[in-house]
Amino acid sequence: EELSTLLLTPKNEIIKSLLLKGISVTPNQLINEDIIQQIADEYETKIITEPKPIITTKTSKPISTSAQTQRPPIVTIIGHVNHGKTTLLHKIRNSQTNQKEAGGITQKIGAYETIFEHKGENRKIVFLDTPGHETFSSTRSKSLSNSDLAILVIAIDDGIKAQTIESIKQAKDANIPIVVAINKVDKTDSIKANTERLKTQLAEYNLIPEEWGGDTSMVAVSASQEYGIKELIDNIFLRTDMLDLRANPTCEAKGIVLETNINKTKGITTLILVQEGTLHIGETIVIGDTWSKIKNMVDASGKTTLVATASSVITIQGLLTTPHTETHFSCFRKVKDAIEFIKMKKTNTDFPKTPLVSATHSFIKQENKTEINVIIKAESQGLLEAVALNIPTQKHPNVNVRITKASVGYVTETDVEFAITSKSEILAFNTTYAPEAKKLANKKNIIIKDFKVIYDILNYISALENGNKSRNE
Ligand code: GDP
Repeated sequence: EELSTLLLTPKNEIIKSLLLKGISVTPNQLINEDIIQQIADEYETKIITEPKPIITTKTSKPISTSAQTQRPPIVTIIGHVNHGKTTLLHKIRNSQTNQKEAGGITQKIGAYETIFEHKGENRKIVFLDTPGHETFSSTRSKSLSNSDLAILVIAIDDGIKAQTIESIKQAKDANIPIVVAINKVDKTDSIKANTERLKTQLAEYNLIPEEWGGDTSMVAVSASQEYGIKELIDNIFLRTDMLDLRANPTCEAKGIVLETNINKTKGITTLILVQEGTLHIGETIVIGDTWSKIKNMVDASGKTTLVATASSVITIQGLLTTPHTETHFSCFRKVKDAIEFIKMKKTNTDFPKTPLVSATHSFIKQENKTEINVIIKAESQGLLEAVALNIPTQKHPNVNVRITKASVGYVTETDVEFAITSKSEILAFNTTYAPEAKKLANKKNIIIKDFKVIYDILNYISALENGNKSRNE
């Protein structure tokens, strides 16, 4: 997967070309340097390895021989809307051993760490929380690709639905095991008969229960009645223990960006997942082509922390730019090493930047076309990407909606100045304004529209594209 980003080549192509060489791999699998070099040769790309490459994978054993220790599993809850995902996560968090750890985190942080007793030991599970709405399907598959296991929630009284099927596919694409939580069993008089029926239906999607000789755990639960939760948690540990999740605690930290926000008081806050090594306060983090010293880290329970180990989700503050979600980061104890690393990346690979909005639209200027320019501002990178990825494709033949800028944060004076020069209107999604920005926009007649719900902003863009709205409307 990482290689496919670096080579700007779809992962299926890489997998196919390896299969032709007789090497069978999955998207998240670790591959050794020789094979990487063979693929790179095909794309006429030179690969230069970092001094100490330590790579782990969730599906195969790490090749690094240095001291690896067990790390907690990362879990995403998936399933059809209203089948009980939110209720289940809430009850799981309440049922943890150390209640204090629950802390004051908000929904927005997007991750929860919970501690449970399993076989006499206190063990942690990290839950990545994703917006439930189908529009956030891409966000969900990103969460899955960073997870070790998925819990698929299916309400027994509603059965397999469209989003259940989509969820199964997304978990399979991410190559992670699924534990099925058959929920709302309090609503049925014949749990046994109904769960058996559901299991038969799930077999059609290749989810075969363990008791039938398959490898999928299926647990009957009632989230609202808090029934079956302990069994579900035990199953998560059993499944993830089979994966033997390990990471090296001694090396410099590496991981992935989950989300970025900008707000007036804290500036840029970035939610990251540490996948390898240990991150200490004061180290330098390199994300994409920017770097900064980590002065402040907040853990998933909302507390300031000085260290973060593998599988920790933490918020850091003070980056100079907003990184895209899914960007990999590396940390360095010495600033000099961080700078070297950036230089090396720049000269070797001319690092590709993730196309955010431009890929979804083509902006060839044509005669007789009405051009409508828009600037999109959104509260977070996740929301911005959700808009970019869901922009409707049906367009009016004579109208061209052009996104001149898309960025995270509140609407600033600079945005309005840019709107003036580029003749754009500003679409603000779930975000606010700097006071001067509002004044300037009023003075210069710049249209600013506020949206709170993703459907509204998408409908508005669609209306613009279909010629149903004019700039003055
Ligand atoms: P989500 O959309 O998948 O996150 O579903 P929610 O957690 O919001 O639940 C949808 C509805 O189902 C809510 O009204 C819950 O109270 C209800 N619900 C969730 N779990 C159970 C359960 O185990 N039994 C019953 N009877 N209702 C449940």
